[in-house]
Amino acid sequence: MRYCQECKVSVNGDWLNCPLCHQPLEKVSEIPTPNPYPDIPLRFNKQQVLRILTSISIATISISLIIELFFLNSTRGLNIISFGIVSMWLVVLIIIRKRRNIAKSIVYLIISLSLLSIYWDYVEGWSAWSTTHAVPMICIFALIAMYIAVRLVKVEVEDYILYLLCAALIGLIPAVFLFFDWVTNPLPAWLSIGLSTVMLIVNFIFYRAEVLRELKKRMMV
Ligand SMILES: [Zn+2]
Repeated sequence: MRYCQECKVSVNGDWLNCPLCHQPLEKVSEIPTPNPYPDIPLRFNKQQVLRILTSISIATISISLIIELFFLNSTRGLNIISFGIVSMWLVVLIIIRKRRNIAKSIVYLIISLSLLSIYWDYVEGWSAWSTTHAVPMICIFALIAMYIAVRLVKVEVEDYILYLLCAALIGLIPAVFLFFDWVTNPLPAWLSIGLSTVMLIVNFIFYRAEVLRELKKRMMV
């Protein structure tokens, strides 16, 4: 917290100069002011969360089944979709349970599911379905899951901002697959990159101060 002598205001965030009058700000020692509002326990409607997850899962499975039955004549896509759906459920559950180090759990989850799919692909005799479809799908669904959790579970901005950033950064990994030409169809990778980029930009625009503060806090630890 800093203070502007000219404007007589306290300024939150990492400003060195007053955002209003641009005079240098005075550093005020951090006084832990009591929160005027009582601590509200994390509250969400479990039924609603489960209903939304279930309907997204059913819709995704139905759409992929229809596409496969009518256009592809195979069920390979269902394996791939299932990776995405499993990752979405797990990410939401991790956030709801609010275990320690949610960001870390989610990053581990995305990485382990991705490695599992790559291994599965390798064992099956490498047809690049994991790098083409599964990994981008896991990244996309993990981002969707976080968005659901943020909307419905109402975690604090400071709490979720880093998970969103982690997931968005991981969602850029398919760019590597594109670069090395490890894909048979570039669309899923581009979708993942696109969604991640939008998430990064949106978060940086709306929560720049929180992002910087959280990053600074984590770097110190
Ligand atoms: Zn000022």
